[in-house]
Amino acid sequence: MRKTKIICTMGPATEGIYEDMILNGMDAARFNFSHENHEVHGHRIKTMKVARAKLNQPIPLIVDTKGPEMRIGVLKNKVNLVNGEIIKLISEEIEGDEKAVTISFKDLYKSVSIGQSIYIDDGRINLEVVSIEGTDIVCKIIAGGVLSSRKGVNVPGCITGLPFMTEKDRADIEFAVDQDVDFIALSFVSNAKDVESVREIFKQKNREDIKIISKIENTEAIKNIDEIIAVSDSIMIARGDLGIELPVKSVPIIQKKLIKKCYTSSKPVIVATQMLESMTDNPVPTRAEVSDVANAIYDGTSVVMLSGETAAGKYPIETLRMMTTVILETENDIDYKVKLDEGAWKVIDQNVINAISEVTVIAASKIDAKAIVVPTRSGNSVRMISSFRPACPIIAITLEEGLQRQLNLSWGIKPMMSKFIGDQKEFFEKVLDQAVATKLVEKGDLIILTAGIPTGYDGKTNMLKMHKVGDEVIGG
Ligand code: PGA
Ligand code: MN
Repeated sequence: MRKTKIICTMGPATEGIYEDMILNGMDAARFNFSHENHEVHGHRIKTMKVARAKLNQPIPLIVDTKGPEMRIGVLKNKVNLVNGEIIKLISEEIEGDEKAVTISFKDLYKSVSIGQSIYIDDGRINLEVVSIEGTDIVCKIIAGGVLSSRKGVNVPGCITGLPFMTEKDRADIEFAVDQDVDFIALSFVSNAKDVESVREIFKQKNREDIKIISKIENTEAIKNIDEIIAVSDSIMIARGDLGIELPVKSVPIIQKKLIKKCYTSSKPVIVATQMLESMTDNPVPTRAEVSDVANAIYDGTSVVMLSGETAAGKYPIETLRMMTTVILETENDIDYKVKLDEGAWKVIDQNVINAISEVTVIAASKIDAKAIVVPTRSGNSVRMISSFRPACPIIAITLEEGLQRQLNLSWGIKPMMSKFIGDQKEFFEKVLDQAVATKLVEKGDLIILTAGIPTGYDGKTNMLKMHKVGDEVIGG
């Protein structure tokens, strides 16, 4: 079984192929609210729900917010910015030209200083602040080019004071909650407070079960990474903006450090952006891209993400297939037992759940278990088991479809649904039936079973059993 999960971004190029995408390895569907409106996304979400129900696959839905952002205003015409010339970013609403353009965030002049770099249009155009005259930011053009209306602006390393929660994001998050999505990915999170402001919306809507993925894509987030991880359910290494907001050379180092921080904190981590970028236009990836995907797997990422490759590319299914084969090949090369012996996946906190999870994975390795089977109410213990990256699959048995979908994004977990019926004996029989239904185990296989007993409570995991499938769990 493939352990590393794949998120696919849905867009114009994926219309009509949702079932194909599920069948070719998509583990989660992402809807990017930086583009298009509620009507379009609402329709896609509805269609995806039909596809996943038809194929009986627990595909979670992720709504990705636009986030706080700065843009330039409208231009009269496209203009060519020439290196060495001067251009002003001003707060008045004007039809811009090569001498002056409007900046959407009116207070920017308060936080920039002379010598500061400002980037426009995904880093393509580079300006340097030479003076601040009143509210005008006077800039020299360092790297020019053609500029058109409403392009995005990045001011690397500058605490701009841009408010985190925009009206659009609030409306989008409320819409997403009403659509019963499973995760919200938050763009440009800067600190724990930003994450908590979104939990507040969930609370008002009585949907505190929805999980938050914090996207790490600026200097502030890197500075406050520990407090962000502590309050988030998952982290996305959003390399696209990260590579503009910080020097691009620091991206691989940050990627390695963040992946480690996440598995040692038992939080799923996603490596995103440009993973198979050239497949947006070509049926085969570059060697460098394949190496990039493989290296993210060697680093221990939980999830990899496809963005434009699936949303707007020419070869969405081919890209997905390429992703699955590269992951499988790489996972096959990694000796997860040896890595476990080497203590590669040590977690930070030591407590009862962590201890039993580590022992579970060690035991599974020693007896060469076919699977680790975990009935779970909250998902906490099974996520912890996943952080120790066992060599065998983890079969999570949930009592609730939302949790089943959320666990589909965790490394190595195959989530299944069961119903709590009868006594403990019957419950375990149902759990094992579901484990067999995955086809990952069969009668006679040795597995590890962990659970919190007595079952039916929100209790902590306290039982570990080496079990032969087919034998009676209790009283056998
Ligand atoms: P985006 O986020 O695609 O929403 O910009 C990912 C990134 O910045 O890498
Ligand atoms: Mn981004």
